[in-house]
Amino acid sequence: MKSKKVMKINDLIVETHVGLERQGPGSCEATLRALSFVDGLNKNSRVMDLGCGTGGQAMVIAQNITAGEIIGLDIFPDFIEVFNANAKKLNLQDRVKGLVGSMDDLSFAKEGFDLIWSEGAIDEIGFEKGLNYWNNYLKKDGFVAVTSASWFTDERPAEVEKFWTAAGCRLNTIVRNISIMQNAGYKLVAVFPLSENCWTDNYFVPRTAAEKEIAEKHPSNKTVEDYIKDSKYEVELYSKYNRYYGYVFYIGKKI
Ligand code: SAH
Repeated sequence: MKSKKVMKINDLIVETHVGLERQGPGSCEATLRALSFVDGLNKNSRVMDLGCGTGGQAMVIAQNITAGEIIGLDIFPDFIEVFNANAKKLNLQDRVKGLVGSMDDLSFAKEGFDLIWSEGAIDEIGFEKGLNYWNNYLKKDGFVAVTSASWFTDERPAEVEKFWTAAGCRLNTIVRNISIMQNAGYKLVAVFPLSENCWTDNYFVPRTAAEKEIAEKHPSNKTVEDYIKDSKYEVELYSKYNRYYGYVFYIGKKI
């Protein structure tokens, strides 16, 4: 008799997100707005998208810069498989390539990139650690563009703080993050918050639909039920407290 497969949280995360256009809050408009602050890219430029998921922003970047190579890196092989299929679908496979790897253990030559991009992922390793570590891989005058969950106000609702801390993320204020960015060796180029629809229409709505399908596929499964409950709570928190926190785009230039 086969043993019953235990559903792991990571499997659930992948199953929920692999079919979505983006695996976190964001939008094509916000990606293009952030890209508009980056100059000097040409056909020899090298771009890296860390925590690239299935390529929601890498493909937008690739289609909107003249040329150059884009490497997407993600820890989940299933996302990279879809990333590479998406690149192929858009006929970008010659210059857009997805690799499996961890953004805190890069195996590239130092000072080799003109732009490091990362949406909705840097908080996995920490804003400060990420910016400091990735700085090593940028050429001088290279750009970094990341989104990070940030406090909009000095007031920090305890419920929100508790949720993010449990998820292993520490939210900073925008002012604090700007100072972290400057101390990590970048000149601040631009900062702007993501709009509410980046979270709701572009992320929570498709994610909730995917979760509904997963619940139907795995009936009476406690792990699935708890996962979906947590996810619903995240949506409720955001709807209740979104004036206090959200994702913010930080664009910096390596000094
Ligand atoms: N940038 C994508 C995905 C954001 S979700 C988008 O905006 O749509 C966060 C991503 O970071 C996930 O794809 C997750 O697999 C990836 N990730 C988490 N920890 C990672 C790590 N240590 N190294 C590389 N990728 C990681």
